[in-house]
Amino acid sequence: MWSQDPQQAHRCLPQGRQTIDGAFAILETVLKKNQLMSTALQQWFARFPVLPEQFSRGPVGGAGVLMEIATFLGNLAKEYESLTAATLHRGYPFLVDELLSRLGCASTVLQFILFTACRRRLGVQDDQLGNEMDTAFRKDQDSHRCSTSGRMGLAPITQPGQIEQRNAGLIAYFREIVTAATAARSSAQYSLRFPSVPGTVIPRPEWPYGPSDRKSIMMSLHQAHVRSPKRVTREGEKERLYQAVKTLPVGPTSLVPKNTMYQFRFEISEEQFALAATKSQACGNLLPVVEHYNGALRWRIRCCVAPASHEMPTEQQWATLDVSWPPNIFMTLNHQVLDVRRQPHNGKDLATEITDLVVCGTNVLNISCPDLRRESAQNRFLAVEMLETLSHSNVVKLIWSQGTIPEEETLATIKKRLASPTDDEVSFGEPDLSIDLADPFSATIFKLPARGVDCTHMECFDLETWLNTRPSKPPIKCPHRQARCTCPNTPEPSNPDKWRCPICSKDARPYSLRIDGFLLKVRAQLEAEGKLQTKSMRVRADGSWSVVLETDDDGGSDGEGSRARSASAAAASSAQTSLGRKGTTQPTSSTGPRREVEVIEID
Ligand SMILES: [Zn+2]
Ligand SMILES: [Zn+2]
Repeated sequence: MWSQDPQQAHRCLPQGRQTIDGAFAILETVLKKNQLMSTALQQWFARFPVLPEQFSRGPVGGAGVLMEIATFLGNLAKEYESLTAATLHRGYPFLVDELLSRLGCASTVLQFILFTACRRRLGVQDDQLGNEMDTAFRKDQDSHRCSTSGRMGLAPITQPGQIEQRNAGLIAYFREIVTAATAARSSAQYSLRFPSVPGTVIPRPEWPYGPSDRKSIMMSLHQAHVRSPKRVTREGEKERLYQAVKTLPVGPTSLVPKNTMYQFRFEISEEQFALAATKSQACGNLLPVVEHYNGALRWRIRCCVAPASHEMPTEQQWATLDVSWPPNIFMTLNHQVLDVRRQPHNGKDLATEITDLVVCGTNVLNISCPDLRRESAQNRFLAVEMLETLSHSNVVKLIWSQGTIPEEETLATIKKRLASPTDDEVSFGEPDLSIDLADPFSATIFKLPARGVDCTHMECFDLETWLNTRPSKPPIKCPHRQARCTCPNTPEPSNPDKWRCPICSKDARPYSLRIDGFLLKVRAQLEAEGKLQTKSMRVRADGSWSVVLETDDDGGSDGEGSRARSASAAAASSAQTSLGRKGTTQPTSSTGPRREVEVIEID
């Protein structure tokens, strides 16, 4: 009746509206909201067994029942919360005596429901222990049943402590079960989430996929303080922000396990220190955030295993290596202990962030890498990195400022490639080199052709597309969930470790990118001639080049045309073979029918 029409319920009952609404709200949490039922069903129940207006005069018990309900609702609003808090404190649930004397709850059904809710809140689930407890409660209910009327009888309670006295045996029994359930639950949790014996290795199938996997959050609670924080954009920054390793304050240094300490020192200038992107926690926010802006700096430590061929990785080689910590490593920076986040908890070994610990001036990094397990000799290096955040337009500006590759340089490289064909290569007339013009992401011709300084392929990717496709860390949901809040919610800057060339996987950080002057000129000419749909070109040793146009026309495979096509296809594949031998990866080029359209001489 209350959920249908609160005012009608208010009229029926003697208490104030606040008490009545409060009591029904409690009932809604213990039972279920009536709104979950269909309206028709609710209306039917509101009229059962009598119409609301006839309620107090009805045949089912009359005014007496109504008074009983009113008393119970009043007590519920007044006592329920303190009674519930008391059960949690004392460690055993409601007793029948309490439900009768303090709440005036005469219904055995409702008594049992209130008891069950209380039992669950104490941590005793609906398992065997829960069943034992329910049975004891039912027995207690039976002993209270008055033999004559079948209704709940109640011996009057006259002095405080009498309930406890009368139920001492039952209380002890309940407490025993609650303790057993608590112990069972904590040991179950322990064996589920943590290896039970220190030193136990977490088996591979239980490792999380990555640091943002929910499993990783559960498993690395002991390192919650070093989880990658939410990174937000400073107010006023309109463009997307990119992070990349800019310099190595401590260059890659071989880290061989030994029983003495390593010590590294590096300087941070006042100007750099002022730009440090440190964690901050606004008043009232539950999680710290890091504010990023154009020019912001971060510092971190990484340990990587380099291929045996790298005696000492260059900065470009270093930037493409994955983190790999030695089995035993202990680090302090400026006397503060550093955490090492490893693969079993995070899906992969993660860099150690030190931005919040660095000082202006000299920083001292002490490392102990003891030789305990006789680890097979790995080519492992350690470096301290400084990362910079740059806005989109500043990345583009930076790359232009690093200078374009002059046209002559590119042509000289092509000439050298063509001049040194291997013996088993069959040449068809004048040799030429095929270069794909399509960007690996968009499959259309680049606007600004760029490649890394270490790239050996002639192909370029489009700079804008390259920047736009750099991924960010998955966003961290704020703990307020659906509730409206003022938590900062701006896009994360790009992931600093996603700068591997899409063609050869070498370093393609903004600091290593160059724009190719020759291909830039080729594009300008193609644009002027309306041939931007071109996907591939051929360059001869003398610098002349021709474009290969894809045609939809694949008929007419007879006579001269057919032979010309197969010859050109063979030339293209031989050019690719010679490139392949030099250790580069070629993107799969289109093998559709091609037609040479023209030759442009370069002066
Ligand atoms: Zn490359
Ligand atoms: Zn929030």
